[in-house]
This record gives sequence, C-alpha cells and structure tokens, in this order.
Amino acid sequence: MSDLVPTPVAGAAQPTPITPQPTHVFEPLYRELEAKILQVRPNEPLEVIRKAYLFAAAKHEGQTRKSGEPYMVHPLYVAHILADMQMDSVCIQTGLLHDVVEDCGVTLDQIKSAFGDAVAGCVDGVTKLAKIKVYSREDRQAESVRKMLLAMVKDIRVVIVKLADRLHNMRTLESLSPDKQQRIAQETLEVYAPIAHRLGMGKIRGELEDLGFQYLEPGAFDEIRHSIESRRMSSEDVLVQIRETVKTKLARENIPSRVEGRVKRPYSVFQKLRRQKISIDQVYDLLAIRIITDSVKNCYGALGIIHNEWHPIPGRIKDFIAIPRPNLYQSLHTSVMGPGGVAFEVQIRTEEMHRIAEDGIAAHWKYKEGKKGQQQDERQIAWLRQLVEWQQELGDPSEFMSTLKTDLNLYPEEVYAFSPAGRVIVLPKDASPIDFAYAIHTDVGNSCVGAKVNGRIVPLKYALKNGDVVEILTQTNHLPSKDWLGYVKTARARNKIRHVINTTERVKAIEIGEKHLDREARRLGVQMRRVTKEDLERVAADYGVAKIEDLYASLGYGKFSARQVLTKLAPDQLEPEPETPRPTAPTQQQSLENDKDVVVRVKGVDDVLVYLAKCCNPIRGEAIVGYISRGKGIAVHSLNCSNVQNLMYEIERKIEVEWARGASETFIVRMKVYTDDRPGILNQLTSILFSENCNIRSLEAQGDDERGGEGAIVAMAVEVKEKKQLERVISSIRRIGGVRDVERVQ
Ligand code: MN
Repeated sequence: MSDLVPTPVAGAAQPTPITPQPTHVFEPLYRELEAKILQVRPNEPLEVIRKAYLFAAAKHEGQTRKSGEPYMVHPLYVAHILADMQMDSVCIQTGLLHDVVEDCGVTLDQIKSAFGDAVAGCVDGVTKLAKIKVYSREDRQAESVRKMLLAMVKDIRVVIVKLADRLHNMRTLESLSPDKQQRIAQETLEVYAPIAHRLGMGKIRGELEDLGFQYLEPGAFDEIRHSIESRRMSSEDVLVQIRETVKTKLARENIPSRVEGRVKRPYSVFQKLRRQKISIDQVYDLLAIRIITDSVKNCYGALGIIHNEWHPIPGRIKDFIAIPRPNLYQSLHTSVMGPGGVAFEVQIRTEEMHRIAEDGIAAHWKYKEGKKGQQQDERQIAWLRQLVEWQQELGDPSEFMSTLKTDLNLYPEEVYAFSPAGRVIVLPKDASPIDFAYAIHTDVGNSCVGAKVNGRIVPLKYALKNGDVVEILTQTNHLPSKDWLGYVKTARARNKIRHVINTTERVKAIEIGEKHLDREARRLGVQMRRVTKEDLERVAADYGVAKIEDLYASLGYGKFSARQVLTKLAPDQLEPEPETPRPTAPTQQQSLENDKDVVVRVKGVDDVLVYLAKCCNPIRGEAIVGYISRGKGIAVHSLNCSNVQNLMYEIERKIEVEWARGASETFIVRMKVYTDDRPGILNQLTSILFSENCNIRSLEAQGDDERGGEGAIVAMAVEVKEKKQLERVISSIRRIGGVRDVERVQ
C-alpha cells in the first residue's frame, strides 16, 4: 500500500504514523537493512519490518547508548547482523524490537497485537534471557549457564537474536567502563561463543571470540595478531602463487571451484599455543586456502590434486566429511609443505558444507524460500536431528521434527534453577526444592523446613521449573523426614536423607540395645556392676564389631541375643543356654517402623540397616549375600563379586539376605556398548531403553581408538528394576545391527 507513494521523509506517508518523532536520522541505516533483505528474499513483505523499526524507534526515542549515540542504532545493527545471516522476517523484527520490553516498558500484549504471536514469543524469550545473571568464575558454572540458556528457549531464533545482540554489544564495547568490558568479554568467551560453536555458527563464534580475547588479554591479542600478520605478509607472494596453481590444476581436471585465502583467527591460535604448548611456527594451519566446490566427489578429487602437487605433512589429513564434527561441521583438511618451505593448510568443502560451517543452525533459515525446496529442508532437518542425537537426547525424533521450527528444547531432562544469589543449579526434571537444598549444601538440605520459589512459599514436593529462583528456609536442629524420599529426584538428596535417617535410627538402636541388655541382666540376675568396659570391648570384638556402641546397636536391631551377650560378658555369673533359638528384642518394633524403601532384608529379621555395595551394585533378582560391615550395617554384594569373596574369610560376618518384596526401587547399571560408527545407533539404543521404561542417567559416545576410529563406544548408566529386565535390554541391544558387544561395567 505505502509502496504507491514514495516516502522521502520516513513516517510521513504512513497511514497511521506510529511516532510523531522524526526517524529520518536512522532512515539510511534502515534502507540498507531493507536492501540486504531484498537481496536474499526479493518477495519479502517489508511493511512489517518497517513497522517494527518505527515502533522501536518511537519507544527508544530520547534514549542514548553509553557512546552517546541514539539507542536505536543498536537494534538496527542487530537487525543488520541477522539480515547478513539471511534470517527470516520474524527474526529481524525481533532484532528490532528486542529491547523494548526490557528498556521501554512495552508489554508483551502490545507486541503481540501489533506483530503477532511468533514475534512476541521471540521478544519474550530474548527479554527472559536478558534477566539471567550470568556471573560465574567457575568453568562448571559456565557449562550450566550455556545449557540453561539453550534449555530455556522455545524457539532457537531467540538464541540467534541473542547472539546477534551480543555481537553488536561486543563490537561497541569500547564505550563501557573497563570493569564492564571485562565482565562482558568473559561472559562472551565462556557462554556465548561456546553456544555459537555448539550451534555450528562458525562465523559469529569467531568474531565473538576474537573480540572477547581482545578485551580480556589485550597484550596477548596484539602479540598474536602481529605475528600472524607478519607471517602472512612475508608469505603473501607464496600464497598468491599457491592459489593460482590450485585454480589452474582444478580447472584442468574440470573441478569447479572458488579458492579463498584464509588466516587463522587470533583467539584460535592463542588456544592452540596454550593447549599444545608449541610456538607459533609450529602452527601448521596458520595460513590456509579454502577450496569450495560443488560435490563431495570433487572434494576428494581436489584433495588428490593438492597431494600430488605438494608434500602432505603426516598426521594432518582430517576427513570431517566422512566423520563430521559434533556440531555437524564438514570439510577435508590437510596441511602441506608449500614452495619455499612454507607450511599451509588446505580446507576443501562443498558450498553447502561451507554455509553450515559459517552459519550452522542459522543456515536452516537460509534460502528457505528458495527453489531448492524440500531436499534442502530435509537435509537441515537431518542436521538438527543428528545434532540432537549427539546431544544425547531421548525422545521421539519424528515428534521432534514436527516441532523443531518453533519449539526446540534441547535438554528436556534437566531443569535449571537459581539460588537467590544467582548461582545456577542443574537438576533432573521434576526435582523438588529438597533436591535443590541438598545441591547447595548438605546442612541446608538437612535443616530445610520450607521453600520459596520466585518469592512465594511452595510445598516441598513442588516440581521446579526452568528459571525458578529458589530460596530454602532452614531451621537448626531440624531433621529430614522419611516422606522426602518420596519426592526427591537426585541420588545425592536421597543418600543424604537416608544417611540422616539411618544415623538417627542407630542412635535409637544403641539406646534400645543398652536398655535391653540391662533389663535382661536384671531378669537373669547378672550384676552389670561387675562387668567392665574391657569385658564389653572384648565381646564386641568377639562379634566382629568395632565399638561398644556397635554392640548395643546390634542388640537394638535384634541381631544378637541379649542373653548370649550376657553369657559372654559374665561367664562366671551365667551358664550358657542349652538351646538358643533366635531371640527377638521386643522393643525394636516400637522404634523401628517398616520402611517401604527397604529393598533387601536379612533373612528372617526386619529392620536391619542394609545397603547395596558400590563395588558390584547388585540388582534385584541377582544372587546376593550380606556382609556385616563394622558400624555401617550390612553390605549386600552380588554373590560372585570378587570383593566379597575376598572378604568372606571372616565367615562369621557373612549373613544371608534376600530381596524384599514390593519395593519399587530402581538400580543404576553401567554398560558399555561397542558398535560400528554409524548414524542412528544412538537412536535405536535410546528407543530400546525408552520402550523398557529405563531412565538414562548418563550416556556418552566416543570413537573407539583401539579400532583406529572405526568403531564407537557408548558408555551409559541406566536405571533398571531387576535382573530379568537388564537381560532383556542387553539382548535387544545386541540385536541392533552394527552392535558388536555389550558389557556391564562395575
Ligand atoms: Mn540489546
């Protein structure tokens, strides 16, 4: 509509001018943006983009950046970065509007009614990310923050806008105070550049890293940049010569190509020097040429031509086409010794590989409206799917594909919550405030009496959500409750709670045991006054327990008979009983209630402290044996555990145990799967576990070095209910084509 009337002055021809303020100062910059968009998408309707531009300009009116420029230049440049990446209209509108909610008090509803749900959703996402405090000095935290950022966004375009926002802020970091420069640069290196890397966005990652490096370590940056530049200058003639040779040779073999010169970026050189402790002259890929051709076949053809011409440096040939990097980067790399002894790297790839290397996930939006159409799209989807597979996801890939365009959650199994001080705590899905409390500190967990989430009191079984700010209310001398075991999700919390409960029960057991012994002594006319501490210690040792307390505890649990103990304590006062049926301590029932969580029982006896040995991790259904460990209760081992066989020379400490009925406990089993390195295996693996309802606790795939990188090893920890289920899982995994072996690891 407005196209009918040329608009020399912005706003003047708008049917309903959104702003009475002149926006013409930004008009040239905005026009350039339009031109960029039209270059890639000639049919893109620009009205909505202009509308977003005018809206943002009106809202930011009067605001300035630290540099003194009008604020509006920032969203405009962010939109430029997105247009350079050939992002879609929603993304560019979001770029223009990304700060209006945060900085201008515009509501999301206003955005929604003016620009629609998609833009409003993205603006909301960017605003939410802006609220996250990303201060961390610890590397561990940085990884959590990265995962959290990715987990919090529903639409991956939010991350792309956020990266563009950060890139422009980094480009204009100069005007901020040195303090802020350091903080922002560090955050960029620790959080944003790795995210760009993970999403395969090589170009933006490179610039973020170099800018971050420049501000954090200006000395090292200048030094490295200078050495790179001087080496480039002195080899300039050689490089030109090499490029010409390559072009001619490739043309002669009918391999269509573009040949580009490339210099390794300063931060990447810096990392290499630091990591490999080498000098800059040993960096073989400092100078490189890049050959971009049309097909995979021609990539390998070009490689042959290069190796024919120059001598390859051994160990430097890398085939990332056959084995793409985890972020789906593909190329052939080789380093050769060029004329005059100048080593240089050659990277060979197709146009499409090039686009993915530069823009990664953003390449998905590129040329989407182009004619290449479906095949292109399917490749991108395959790319994302594989990305997700690499990220060790569970879940149905077809479901994922149907939602990937707008709803992308890369870590559905985890939830990220904050302490009031801004510390990120990573917890499993549906974790409770109690898990959070124990993740902060054992004492916080033990003394937890309540929790506030986002300022409001919640029940302790509340399921935490991404971004929740959790404050734990504590009270000294408070003890964990058994009920908590019903809703904690982390092993840490579970173990700590159990530990406290066991300890408290032990204290009770000691008390009961001592009283019981006294009572029994009175009944049998044994004078306890005549029993010495040494007597007690001797008898304790006799029973294989370390301390007198343990003797009492065992009595309290009903493991030994008080009469027997008294006979040993005062043989002069008491005759041994002719027959000693297993006695029961009548008091024990009162103090030790039935525990639903008990998975193993000592045969014929209730309420004895029992735990599963870590060394063999027996699972339900396996043959087991108990071993009375000093002061800790009874350790349950698998019958064929080599540890317990060594321990069993003390035959009197062996005790018969059995699996308790009805407990709903799961057991963590570690396995290694040896397999061919082919796509789809992880998918099949996870779907077997999924159909058996086995939770995956961890899963990691890596190349099998012993097989020269031909195979892969998948190490995983899964939860199983019992032995039979484990056997089923293992035999299903063995049936996957390409799987060579499965082993259970202790
Ligand atoms: Mn911004």
